[in-house]
Amino acid sequence: MKSISSWGRLSHEDHHVIPLNDRQNVTNLIQAQEGRFGIAYGMGRSYGDVALNPNGHLWLTTGLNHLIHFNESTGRLRCESGVLLKDIQRLLIPRGWILPVTPGTQMVTVGGAIANDVHGKNHHLLGSFGDHVQHVKLIRTDSTEIECSPNLNTEWFAATVGGLGLTGLIVEAEIQLRPTSGPWLDTETIPYANLSEFFELADSSEKDWEHTVSWIDCMSNKGQGIFMRANPNKELKDVPKMNAEKKMPFLPPISLVNSLTLRPFNLAYYNLKKYKAGSSIAHYENFFYPLDKLLEWNRMYGPKGFFQYQSVIPRNVGQDATQAMLKEIEKSGEGSFLAVLKTFGNRESLGMLSFPEPGVTLALDFPNHESRTHKLLSRLDAIVKEAKGRIYAAKDARMPRELFEAGYPKLNEFLKYRDAGISSSLSRRLLGS
Ligand SMILES: Cc1cc2nc3c(=O)[nH]c(=O)nc-3n(C[C@H](O)[C@H](O)[C@H](O)COP(=O)(O)OP(=O)(O)OC[C@H]3O[C@@H](n4cnc5c(N)ncnc54)[C@H](O)[C@@H]3O)c2cc1C
Repeated sequence: MKSISSWGRLSHEDHHVIPLNDRQNVTNLIQAQEGRFGIAYGMGRSYGDVALNPNGHLWLTTGLNHLIHFNESTGRLRCESGVLLKDIQRLLIPRGWILPVTPGTQMVTVGGAIANDVHGKNHHLLGSFGDHVQHVKLIRTDSTEIECSPNLNTEWFAATVGGLGLTGLIVEAEIQLRPTSGPWLDTETIPYANLSEFFELADSSEKDWEHTVSWIDCMSNKGQGIFMRANPNKELKDVPKMNAEKKMPFLPPISLVNSLTLRPFNLAYYNLKKYKAGSSIAHYENFFYPLDKLLEWNRMYGPKGFFQYQSVIPRNVGQDATQAMLKEIEKSGEGSFLAVLKTFGNRESLGMLSFPEPGVTLALDFPNHESRTHKLLSRLDAIVKEAKGRIYAAKDARMPRELFEAGYPKLNEFLKYRDAGISSSLSRRLLGS
């Protein structure tokens, strides 16, 4: 038994951890034992309880870390599901191939990226991770093996991409990489004073910029923030030696993100970025994964951990709903430092439970102040519900079941593909088993 938590560190509970190291020998290891069900656990970078299963089995996939085949002329990669996105990027970018979609950290596994159908800063151009997966090999707890792809067993594929690990264990996957000219990006940083300016920037950037994202100052309900956009730089080729990551040196007894620090933090960050606004050249790791530079940064929230809250709101009501959420946050006195606002492109996701849909997505994190934080999050839920939006399960530890059901209209169809021997804290909370 081992105490395991997720990235939000809201709980630390014992799990029976079963390391998976050999893809030929997974079938026996994932069968229910002594009536205990299991769930796959990759790098545990999901914030809430989607990969947790206290007192049950956790199938640790990071030992399934082999690349199986790479075709250097087509960019097609076949690998085991525990391979890290970071390793793929570092190995293949110097050879001219890049993962088409990656989230805000590269410390995640291929299996985790498929199971949450993760999105990056280029959704308007390339959709989400699952759009680039060409094949998946799934092993179920009843020992059946299912091969699925955009053309084969397509319903299994649509259930497994974004399927929260509940359709079986992904053992292998094939991904179509994208040609790249190198590791550098041409970037622009532009301050915006309010949400109207944000939406103008987001719309006007979609055509000419591959990557767009913004940081929003949610301590000022004006909606001011910093917009960042980037395109691959086609000239610079040298791959530099990366600076070593730094580590959060200790677990503070209370959250370092609190009412005394938040307002000055946010104001200082806004002014610093405003001062440095303009064009520059950035390495892809600095632009895509800035938080990876401080290992275990999640410990800065102290022993009680923190909640992430990510919603997507349909575009026609996106501005009003975002404004209403900012107002609620300001009124509550709770605040978020790592607040990200961006638009998703006008494309539907292929997974039955995939999160991205056309609209605007706001990701926030709040130190865990128990009932105070729950009250605020319930008020944000009401805004999301009214706007017919949805909450991202990869970040969630508390959304009410009715909001999940309302946000994911293909849920009933998905349930047909569930593996009866797989269960997580999230599935018990939101699906009843
Ligand atoms: C700093 C930071 C930034 C982030 N930014 C983004 C972002 O921009 N966009 C975004 O979409 N997400 C983002 N995330 C969330 C993260 O990308 C996802 O939670 C991702 O799924 C984590 O992958 P993991 O390997 O850690 O999987 P885990 O968190 O361990 O597991 C996630 C899910 O995948 C399932 N799973 C894992 N492996 C397998 C397998 N082999 N077979 C079947 N199921 C499996 C698990 O059961 C669970 O349901 C961010 C997280 C952090 C910490």
